Amino acid sequence: MPLVNSKELFKKAYDGGYAIGAFNCNNMEIVQAITEAAKECNSPVILQVSAGARKYAKPVYLKKMVEAAVEDTGLPIVLHLDHGADFEICKDCIDNGFTSVMIDASSKSFEENIALTKKVCEYAHAHKPYVTVEAELGTLAGIEADVKVEHGAESYTRPEDVEEFVKRTGCDSLAIAIGTSHGAYKFKPSQCTRDPKTGVLCPPPLRFDILEEVSKRLPGFPIVLHGSSSVNQEYVKIINDNGGALVDAVGVPEEQLAKASKLAVCKINIDSDLRLAMTAGIRQDMKEHPEHFDPRQYVGLGRSYVKELVKHKITDVLGSKDKA
Ligand SMILES: [Zn+2]
Repeated sequence: MPLVNSKELFKKAYDGGYAIGAFNCNNMEIVQAITEAAKECNSPVILQVSAGARKYAKPVYLKKMVEAAVEDTGLPIVLHLDHGADFEICKDCIDNGFTSVMIDASSKSFEENIALTKKVCEYAHAHKPYVTVEAELGTLAGIEADVKVEHGAESYTRPEDVEEFVKRTGCDSLAIAIGTSHGAYKFKPSQCTRDPKTGVLCPPPLRFDILEEVSKRLPGFPIVLHGSSSVNQEYVKIINDNGGALVDAVGVPEEQLAKASKLAVCKINIDSDLRLAMTAGIRQDMKEHPEHFDPRQYVGLGRSYVKELVKHKITDVLGSKDKA
């Protein structure tokens, strides 16, 4: 099966009450870990590439690695541009075989966001084959690639805007802000409560009222959540036990993401959790085996941790197991 766009996958996910994992990748081991996990779970999957990943690995390498994964697994795989900042980067990806792009004009005014998103949609939809477009309304806190939004400067999506936005732009899916956040430090300690027993931070709950209101206004329309790593504490502990220093790293609880997956949310972006699993494996191998100097030894353990994590997400959070 060749690369696919997200249209059919989202329709099935919406109707089936599950979400598809959109995992960021920037090297071979991460691509392999994600797609081998998806293969073992017989799950569709979205591999997404940020501007930072394009800069790090070069677009041609990323494209060829994802094609290799398609050939190796036979799964329905979407190659998606994460956080396209302007028309040019979206066009470049569309012209070079991406099957889906995000235009993120969420930091611009409502009218400017509409104008730019519409321009990308017209170009992407005229392409043969059809390329799907994700847009964003509302702003998330946190850091991703070159995008940094201070806590307090984020803004929830206004449900009263969504129908007009989707109608005027023609976008295929919409990322909304309901309290998720980019990075491994999603919330300030002052926004959280602290578990008295474990000392672990408990973040504020997601705004399911906004999600409900949005989906009421856009029946059948796929919603996307960015910044949805859970910062699983088992990996934070391995990292910190092996020389790392991640203090008060906190994510979105998996139960809340599992709940969102059953609703209108069809795509959940997970990046930081993969980074943490990879780092945990590398740190553990290096600490336990100071004699190792073959990157396959420590990167290999990192890859196996990422694979386990993705299987867990597909099975226990997204609900996309056996949906390929
Ligand atoms: Zn994002």
